[in-house]
Parts: sequence; C-alpha cells; structure tokens
Amino acid sequence: MPITNRIAALQAEMTEWRRDIHAHPELGFDEHRTSEIVAKKLEEWGIEVHRNIAGTGVVGVLRGQPGKGSIGLRADMDALPMQELTEDLAYKSQNPGVMHACGHDGHTTMLLGAAKYLAETRNFAGTVNFIFQPAEEGGGGGRVMVEEKIFERFPCDAVYGVHNDPTRPLGTAAVRPGPIMAAADLFTVKIKGKGGHGAMPHLAIDPVVIGAQIVTALQSIASRRTDPLGSVVVSITQFHAGSAMNVIPDEAMLAGTVRTLLPEVQDATEAMMRKIIENTAEAHDAVAEFDYQRNYPPTINHAEEAGRAERALLGLLGDGKVETDYPPVMGGEDFSFMLLARPGAFIQLGQRAPDGSHGTSVHHPRYDFNDDLLPVGASFFAQLVEKELPKA
Ligand SMILES: [Zn+2]
Ligand SMILES: [Zn+2]
Repeated sequence: MPITNRIAALQAEMTEWRRDIHAHPELGFDEHRTSEIVAKKLEEWGIEVHRNIAGTGVVGVLRGQPGKGSIGLRADMDALPMQELTEDLAYKSQNPGVMHACGHDGHTTMLLGAAKYLAETRNFAGTVNFIFQPAEEGGGGGRVMVEEKIFERFPCDAVYGVHNDPTRPLGTAAVRPGPIMAAADLFTVKIKGKGGHGAMPHLAIDPVVIGAQIVTALQSIASRRTDPLGSVVVSITQFHAGSAMNVIPDEAMLAGTVRTLLPEVQDATEAMMRKIIENTAEAHDAVAEFDYQRNYPPTINHAEEAGRAERALLGLLGDGKVETDYPPVMGGEDFSFMLLARPGAFIQLGQRAPDGSHGTSVHHPRYDFNDDLLPVGASFFAQLVEKELPKA
C-alpha cells in the first residue's frame, strides 16, 4: 500500500504545522507551546487527551472498532540548545539559541498527521495511544514517562518510534532486530593521594602516576577483556591535577564516557572499571572514588516488532527500499527506555532528497527536516495500525 491518499492530501496542512513548530522550538521539559498545540489538535479530532505526563508530555487515546489489541506510537517534541544558521528559511527559529536540529518538529507532525487520519477513518479494531514525549535530547523524557507508568495507564501491546535519517534517501527506511544504538554513560574518578615536594616523591602519594596507570589499565577492557564483537568504547576525556611545576598534588580527577550496545557488556564494563580503578589506587596506598552514571540504555529492537515494522514499510515503500542489515551507531536515544518496558521497534526513515538537499546531519546548525517525509511517516504509522489492529 503506497502513501495513503487522504494523508497525501494532508501534506500542505502538515507542512504548516511543522514549520510553525520549527519556528518556535522549545528545550526539553519546556515544550509548553508545542505540547498545547498537540493536545488541542488531538482534542479537536475527538481523541481523548491526557496532559502533563512527565511534565509537558501528552498521550492521546483513540479507540477504533471494538477490539482487545493496542499499539503505542511515539514522537519526541524537544529542540536543541544551539543557534540555527540556516539561510533564507521563512520559518527559521525565532528563539535565539534554540533550534529543531534533530527533526523532532517533523516527528511530532508525522504523528499528528497519523492521528488526524486515524481519528477520521477508525479503520482498525482496538486502541491506539499517541505518545508525545518531552526531553529526548539528554533529559530522559522517555524514562520519566515510563516511570510515570504510561504503559500501565495506557496499555500497549507494542510501541513504535521513528527518526528521520539524512544519510538515507527519501523513500527508503531501515529497521532491524537487536541493538541499533548505544548506551551512553558518564563517569568521574577522584584519586586521593598525598601531596608533597616534587623532589621527594617517596614522602608523597602521587595521584598523577596512579591516574596515568588507571588511564592505561582501563584500555584493556576494550582490547583484552571484552569480546571484540561486543562493542565497547571507554574514553577518558578529562585528566586534571596539580597547580605548580614542583609540587606533587593531593588529588587527580579523571572523567569520560562509556558506550556499549549490550546490557551485559555495559554491566561488565562498569564492574571491571570499578575493580581496576579501586584496586590500582589501593595498590599505591591511595583512595579512588568512582562515580558511574547510567544515562541512556542501548536501544534494542525486538525481533517480532522489527519484522512487523519491516512488513508495513515494504508495503509503503516497495521491495528493496527497506534495509534490515546495517551496523548500529554509538549515539544514544531515549526511546530505549520504552523498548525496555514494552516490545517494539525504532525505525529510521530516509529524508535526503534526490537533488542532495536535506542531507545535512542532525545536530548541525544548518539541518532542516524534509517536509516531503511528512506523508511517508504519517502513512507508515497509519498503515502499521491498520495492519496490526485489523477489523474483524
Ligand atoms: Zn538528536
Ligand atoms: Zn533526535
């Protein structure tokens, strides 16, 4: 089934919504205007609306023909704290230092388009939950929604989310089972030694030498301790110590990031780091304080739902247009929290135009969402619902 006619007819209207949201970007948990627009439209279309979930989040509940099945469709609404540098865009950001540079304006609009169509047609049996989440860009709005029990309040047999992809051509998509994006964790290490004269190291406990050994030893986690196909990155990105050239400092501070694709590798990495850091310090009569913060878990698609998404995409885009074998990326995505709570899949939708436009990377100051992707994304959501929740 190619692009749904009724949705194709909504393209001009959807483009207006998208450009209005683009011109008024809002940061994570501050999406008051966007969230109000979403809630008002859903209400206007006769959808039951629940506001103030995870702060500015909105859930719309739409019931079709009688049926037990349920599905969750998720879009993110937040923008990034960066200055837009696009030229000649009539709908350029009006909020200095805030920009929709990841296309969440487009994701929100595609889901609104699907909601409008599904509310009009109700050509399905069961319940669709439209989940508009705040704060994907680092704030963990998806995590907060799960903690606020959205899936208990609004049961979903499965949950699906999409992201635009400027690296892929418009009219193509990618979905596959298993890990597709990394866990992104942060850590700090404080090494407490004993300061002293630079000429008399035997009377001091040198945190710089101990820190250097820790930096080197941590590299063995990726190179010697983890299955080479297990994918782990341990990057020490900060090393601070000392203030004078002839003084051994009291303390040294290290910090960095860890990226992993599998929960078991993430657990093992944190445990190995703790052992190496604490025991290296101990071996030198120093003390190390290790703080490891789990930020986003890896995004792991469930096999069955990835297959369901693939079939819906093949129907929409045609044979050969859906990639199912592609390498994961080490970036993070907080839809991962929803995929830990419910089966589901995260899908990449290509947006690069044939003339090469709209190929600029997300998070770039000249990025812009491709409005020609709006009917594709909205049709995908709508056709997935009609396929997964068929009328008797
Ligand atoms: Zn982003
Ligand atoms: Zn994004």
